[in-house]
Amino acid sequence: MNRIDAPLKEIDPEIYAAIKNEERRQSMGLELIASENFTYEAVLESTGSVFTNKYAEGYPGRRYYGGCEFVDVVENLAIERAKALFGAEHVNVQPHSGSQANMAVYLTILKPGDTVLGMNLSHGGHLTHGHPLNFSGKYYRIVPYGVKKDSEVIDYDELASLARQHKPRLVIVGASAYPRIIDFAAIAKVAQETGAMMMVDIAHIAGLVAAGQHPTPVPHAEFVTSTTHKTLRGPRSGLVMCREPFAKDLNRSVFPEMQGGPLVHVIAAKAVCFKEAATDEFRTYISQVVRNAKTLAARIAKRGFRIVSGGTDTHLMLVDVFSKGIDGKQAEEALDKASITVNKNTIPFDTNPPVKPSGIRIGTPALTTRGMKEPEMEAIGDWISDVLDAINDEAVRKRVKKEVETLCEKFPLYPKRSGI
Ligand SMILES: *Cc1c(COP(=O)(O)O)cnc(C)c1O
Repeated sequence: MNRIDAPLKEIDPEIYAAIKNEERRQSMGLELIASENFTYEAVLESTGSVFTNKYAEGYPGRRYYGGCEFVDVVENLAIERAKALFGAEHVNVQPHSGSQANMAVYLTILKPGDTVLGMNLSHGGHLTHGHPLNFSGKYYRIVPYGVKKDSEVIDYDELASLARQHKPRLVIVGASAYPRIIDFAAIAKVAQETGAMMMVDIAHIAGLVAAGQHPTPVPHAEFVTSTTHKTLRGPRSGLVMCREPFAKDLNRSVFPEMQGGPLVHVIAAKAVCFKEAATDEFRTYISQVVRNAKTLAARIAKRGFRIVSGGTDTHLMLVDVFSKGIDGKQAEEALDKASITVNKNTIPFDTNPPVKPSGIRIGTPALTTRGMKEPEMEAIGDWISDVLDAINDEAVRKRVKKEVETLCEKFPLYPKRSGI
């Protein structure tokens, strides 16, 4: 038999089985990891397409390889759709991930040793905003800003005084675990005053920005970076938007400075998600994501858990489980046994170590994609509280796991796929 034509099931039963098991796991559990979502069948189709075979170093109309006429169609559509969706002057759709989108910006405007203001990682910031083990923390001088101790909202006054004191070349804005609206206009004013540039990383909130549920940073910042697989619900990837004067330098830092050939199959899938994100269906989806997060947070709070900053404006919340004497690791593990997936997370001013932090992070994008609404969120809030209130009780976990499975059957995931 021709090996090129053989189906996966025959050519590699082990990988085939792992994929089928993962399909079942995703469909029979409650996915509450705030950075995850369930993408479109159309995106899976695009990422599984023959564009994976194609080399296309360069940009539309200026490639290093022949045969790029259809690649150019795809990349131009992705660029035009992203520009329209976010109102950006220039877009580069080639970064392979959110981290690489950020790296591309740093390579465009920073030199090693330059001073950068970034959000404290233990207050919600991201690895690529200056973690000591990340390239960003190794090559740049990072000055962290954070949230206020009482309100747990970004301390804009502290940010301003740090900017005046340290005169950073760049202010990085954006977070992975911050539940409140960020005031981009206020930060832009500080950046302007102190001669800094501003990059906003909307990896988490891109879908909310696209749908008008979170103010857009695009008019305020020189650079805006994002992933496409979180609230935007597209393929696992990244993009960078910038003002026109930076366009050429940005393109050069993505290719040839940072990457080689673009992942054209993934760029095709990004084009699909940008098209979908401009529809009324997507706007309805995102407003339900936010309503679901508010409902879930309120329910968990009602059961006596402290919600960081008192609630949420977005798709995610941080629950201070240590307010009931358990740590985030215990909570994550107990919920996992009940088929509820969350992640442990530090909370601002955490008194516990990062391996056993005080909190868990919970997000609603994935379950909202399955069609779940407020009544389901109330039930889920109770199940989470039941499991955490009886942290060592296996019977409670078993009971909740059964209820979870019954609920999952009512909201099938990828119903057209066989074998689930
Ligand atoms: C998820 C995330 C990223 C990185 O995305 P990857 O695709 O995992 O590299 C960058 N910034 C923020 C704020 C994120 O939340």
